Amino acid sequence: MEKKRILTGDRPTGPLHLGHYVGSVANRVKLQDEYDAFVIMADIQMLTTHFEHPEKLHQDVLNVAMDNLACGLDPAKATLFIQSMVPQIAELTVIYSNLVTVQQLSHNPTIKTEAAQYNFGESMPLGFLSYPVSQAADITFCRAHLVPVGEDQLPHIEQTRKIVRKFNATYAPVLVEPDAKVSEVPRLVGLDGNTKMSKSLGNAIFLSDPPEEVKRKVSTALTDPARIHPTDKGHPDVCVVYAYHKVFNPEGAADIEQRCKAGTIGCVPCKKLLVDVLNRFLAPIRERRAVYEKDPDSVWDILNKGTARAYEEGAATMALVREAMKIAYFPQ
Ligand code: ATP
Ligand code: MG
Repeated sequence: MEKKRILTGDRPTGPLHLGHYVGSVANRVKLQDEYDAFVIMADIQMLTTHFEHPEKLHQDVLNVAMDNLACGLDPAKATLFIQSMVPQIAELTVIYSNLVTVQQLSHNPTIKTEAAQYNFGESMPLGFLSYPVSQAADITFCRAHLVPVGEDQLPHIEQTRKIVRKFNATYAPVLVEPDAKVSEVPRLVGLDGNTKMSKSLGNAIFLSDPPEEVKRKVSTALTDPARIHPTDKGHPDVCVVYAYHKVFNPEGAADIEQRCKAGTIGCVPCKKLLVDVLNRFLAPIRERRAVYEKDPDSVWDILNKGTARAYEEGAATMALVREAMKIAYFPQ
C-alpha cells in the first residue's frame, strides 16, 4: 500500500530556530518513516515580505536545508525541494485565486498579525495578502494528506481545505483535503516575550548558534519584571526562561517553578541551567550540521534530486487538474 503524504517546510528567511524545531521539524523527523514526506523551501513565499532581496535566497535555501538535515531528516526517506523550481505550484496558485475571496484573505488572523508586524498599512503587497493561496498550492501539488505546522499556520490549512472543497465540488473531486498536525508545543515564545519566536522578529535562538551565542541570548531573555532581587518571590508564568525550561527541561521544570515562586533560585542561576540544557540539546544538531557545511554540494545534490521528484508529482497533479477542469487540450 502506498504511504500517505506529508507536506511541510519553511520560508528561507534565515536559519531555523528552536521554535521551528518544536513546532514543526520534530514532527517531520518523527513522521518521515510512516509517511512520504515532502519538505518545501518556500523561496517564492519569502519574496512576499522580502521581494527586494532575492540575492539572499541562495544562502538561506542552503541554511534551511542544512538545518532540516541536521535535525535528522533523512534524504533517503524525505523529499527536500525548492518551491520556485516546481512551476506547477505557480499554475495551481493562479487557478485557486478564483476560488478565494479578497475578504476571506483579509480576515485571516495570521495575515492580520503578520501585516501589523511588517507595518504594511495601506500598502500591502498583493502577493502577501494571497500567500495562503500559494500555500494551498504548495500543499496540494503533491496531494498531501497531512501538514505538520505551528499553530500560526492553522488558518492557512483551513483556507486550503476550503479551496480544495470548492475545487472538487466545482470541477471534479481530484484534490486531497489535508489535515493539520500541530505539535505538543504549538507556539514557542520569543526571547523578548513576543508570543512567537520568529526569524523575522529578531527574538530567536538558532539551531546553528554556537554555545557562547546561546549563552548571550539567554542572558537577554525576558524574566518576571516584578522580580528585582534574587530572593523576591517570582512569577514563572510570565517568564520566558521558565517557558523554555518547560519545553527543553521537562524533568527539571517543576523544581524550578517551585524554587522561583519561593524566591530560592535567582534568575542568573536559572538562566545558567537553561544554557546548559539548550547546549546539550543543540550539540548533536551542530555536529551533523558541520558535516553538511563542509560539503554544500552534497546538500544541493539532495535538493536537486528532491526537486526533480517534486516536479514529477506536480506534473501528475496538473494533469488531473486539467482533466477535472476540461482544459486538457492535447492528449498526454
Ligand atoms: P518568518 O518570520 O520569516 O515568517 P517564521 O519563524 O515564522 O519565519 P516560517 O518559515 O514562516 O518561520 O515557519 C515554518 C514553520 O515553523 C511553520 O510551520 C511555523 O508554524 C513553524 N514555526 C515558526 N515559528 C514557530 C514558533 N515560534 N513556535 C512554533 N512553531 C513555529
Ligand atoms: Mg512565518
